[in-house]
Amino acid sequence: MKAAFSQFYKRTPEQRLAILAETLGLSETEQQELKRRAAQGDAPLLVENYLTTYQLPEGVAVNFRVNDHDYVVPMVTEEPSVIAAASNGAKQLAKAGGITATVRSRLLTGQVLLSEVKVYASIDDWVALHQNELLDVARQAHPSIVKRGGGPVSIRTRDLGEGFVSIDLTADVQAAMGANMMNTMLEAIAAVVQNKLHRATLFSILSNTGDRSLTTATVSVPVVQLAGDPEDAKQVAKRIAQASRVAQLDPMRAVTHNKGIMNGVDAVVMAMGNDWRAIESAAHAYAVQDGQYRGLSQWRLEDDQLTGTLTLPLPVGTVGGATKVLPLVGINQKIAQVHSPQDLMKLIAAVGLAQNFAAIKALVTSGIQQGHMKMQIRSLAMSVGATSLEVPALTAQLMPLSDPSEAHARQLLKQIRNNKEDHHAKR
Ligand code: NDP
Repeated sequence: MKAAFSQFYKRTPEQRLAILAETLGLSETEQQELKRRAAQGDAPLLVENYLTTYQLPEGVAVNFRVNDHDYVVPMVTEEPSVIAAASNGAKQLAKAGGITATVRSRLLTGQVLLSEVKVYASIDDWVALHQNELLDVARQAHPSIVKRGGGPVSIRTRDLGEGFVSIDLTADVQAAMGANMMNTMLEAIAAVVQNKLHRATLFSILSNTGDRSLTTATVSVPVVQLAGDPEDAKQVAKRIAQASRVAQLDPMRAVTHNKGIMNGVDAVVMAMGNDWRAIESAAHAYAVQDGQYRGLSQWRLEDDQLTGTLTLPLPVGTVGGATKVLPLVGINQKIAQVHSPQDLMKLIAAVGLAQNFAAIKALVTSGIQQGHMKMQIRSLAMSVGATSLEVPALTAQLMPLSDPSEAHARQLLKQIRNNKEDHHAKR
């Protein structure tokens, strides 16, 4: 088997498929499926050993009102209830006047790491003395970003202890996410450190912390809007605020609270061709910034208003990376009216807040399963092989069951097919 994969990266996708089929016993149908999904164009060049294209559904969340504009938001996700919940949350928040989103700053930081430093002050003093020279070196390493109005902004050192020192470079990466341009600038700085300070560096890479790309979304919902009956509405508002408080106190709950936020955030980040691992890492690091993992959003009840706030580190880009290679990203930017990273950051934060509102409200009222069930049952129907024509009939039969299983779904699908055959036979 090992020999078959030698120089695998030099093969064409068709040759790779033939090798996999032979060594792993893929059936003709499985091979056809992989071939059918293979993309044309440049997308295959994004990854090594390209075989096919793994598709995820894309839908649009509607009803978003952010900074007094209406938005439709493309979302890519495999989780059935995400887009419905985002649209539902957004509708309720739009009724309250909509979400306000602001970008606090948009800079990227990177690190040149030194190890076995005996006297931190010697590095700190040297960097302080040569900071203009180091910033110039970074500019010259990536002059095009300077021409675009960005480039290195500042440099400083931090003593990490145990002999490790980080030289932190902060840069304005304009419309890009900036990982590659930052890494280029850092490696140029590392070369100067090696040549002039005569110190080997451990590594040079951007930091995904994103704490210089913070975006805040806020909304105030009149309590009366939360239920038909004013007393019920007060109870709902109180319970949402309490659930939000639990996520501040209990990391166990905070993780799930934040997962709900990231349901929406990741789906937009993916639709926009951005690096969702970077956004996930940044969000969770931000959630634990004071030493305890906490909910990223907070809902507070003040008088007759329920106010929600969500701050997220969102180092996203609207150019570079995969944005121009993945064919749908340009169209998705158009659908979402995204013209700059700042537009995208505000929209993502707004989606996170609406998603969170929908989830907590469902959780403290009807419970999460009621809303999820319809979508989950549709997934269950599809998972047992129901065709698009059979799905409505099968979901209708599964809905009344309190806890429908795969066995139920298979049995009911069989009945539907048998009835259909009987019907045809009688005609
Ligand atoms: P690119 O390397 O694609 O660089 C951005 C490109 O966009 C440059 O070619 C730049 O042109 C061009 N560009 C056009 N218009 C603008 C503008 N207005 N502002 C800025 N750039 C512009 O992407 P990034 O440097 O953004 O890196 C992102 C990629 O790096 C992602 O795919 C990410 O997954 C990956 N990555 C992530 C890492 C991490 O998160 N730890 C590590 C390494 C890579 P020009 O060169 O002319 O300026």
